[in-house]
Amino acid sequence: MSEIQKVKCLIIGSGPAGYTAAIYAARADMKPVMYQGMQPGGQLTTTNEVENFPGYPDGVTGPEMMIQLEAQAKRFEADIRFGMITKVDFSGEIHKCWADDGTEIHAETVIISTGASAMYLGLESEQHYLKIGGGVSACAVCDGFFYRGQETVIVGAGDSACEEAHYLSKLCTKVTMLVRRDEFRASKIMTERVKNTPNIEILYNTEAEEVLGDGQGVSGVKARNNKTNEIIEIPCTGFFLAIGHKPNTAIFKDYLNLDEVGYIKYEQPGTTKTNVPGVFVAGDAADKTYRQAITAAGTGCMAALDAERYLASKE
Ligand SMILES: Cc1cc2nc3c(=O)[nH]c(=O)nc-3n(C[C@H](O)[C@H](O)[C@H](O)COP(=O)(O)OP(=O)(O)OC[C@H]3O[C@@H](n4cnc5c(N)ncnc54)[C@H](O)[C@@H]3O)c2cc1C
Repeated sequence: MSEIQKVKCLIIGSGPAGYTAAIYAARADMKPVMYQGMQPGGQLTTTNEVENFPGYPDGVTGPEMMIQLEAQAKRFEADIRFGMITKVDFSGEIHKCWADDGTEIHAETVIISTGASAMYLGLESEQHYLKIGGGVSACAVCDGFFYRGQETVIVGAGDSACEEAHYLSKLCTKVTMLVRRDEFRASKIMTERVKNTPNIEILYNTEAEEVLGDGQGVSGVKARNNKTNEIIEIPCTGFFLAIGHKPNTAIFKDYLNLDEVGYIKYEQPGTTKTNVPGVFVAGDAADKTYRQAITAAGTGCMAALDAERYLASKE
């Protein structure tokens, strides 16, 4: 039988945004309840080294950092639960949410921190090297540093792909950009920037078919020209994907304003308010620009403060 629980603050998602919101909300005595979702700890649990989060001079592994964030939230008695929120109803003043174990939650405030998932090509070899941390990445800003002075390949043709290729070009000796069609999708200014960067080589009509390596680390990419069927092998130690992200926001689409990709729109810039009073969003679920742990944590803090002010204004 389903059970109804009344909570002041429900946090959906357990990445850096969710845990930071939980720490702030718990310390403000909002007794937050968090549902961790299918990936407790979020995206960082899929990476080894995190070297750019302030406070870790020697770096930290993603899973270790998330264990510490969880412990910090628990220290202030945040109620952290394993499970998914599968349905919401934001039509009334009380926000109704349902968890996958049948629990019905009536929340005065909701903080959405469900993140986004990077898209991959789905090649078996790509997934192998991704899983073992052997040279496949969907984040140049996060991982480019590990390929300093080396050759990399990046797949993508949009603005983000151009930005990431340009970022890599400053660190790597050579960047080969694989563009599936005979033109970019990116804006003219971004396209010109990569075209004018001497160590970026652009291969049009070219698709990656296999990530090559010795099973432990990437040593190249086998690619095919989709016009001529010519197969080439490009030596590289890093294979980057920049073909988009999918925000985990489908369950909110009937109530919240989303952009064309699915990112939740902020109602008021400079805050974490959505179009539904009492519902706030933090982290990558609303961020298609920065997508970093520190920015997610920053907006997690903002969301908890916004939620607390919302509750205070109603008292
Ligand atoms: C391979 C890789 C390496 C990276 N390296 C770095 C790095 O070195 N430095 C850096 O700053 N950033 C890095 N990033 C980016 C960083 O991981 C993200 O910017 C950050 O994790 C976003 O945090 P978030 O809290 O918004 O969401 P996420 O970390 O995406 O977490 C989302 C959470 O929501 C949960 N969830 C989703 N749907 C539901 C639901 N319906 N119900 C309940 N829970 C749900 C998930 O289980 C998950 O816990 C990396 C990303 C990747 C993929």
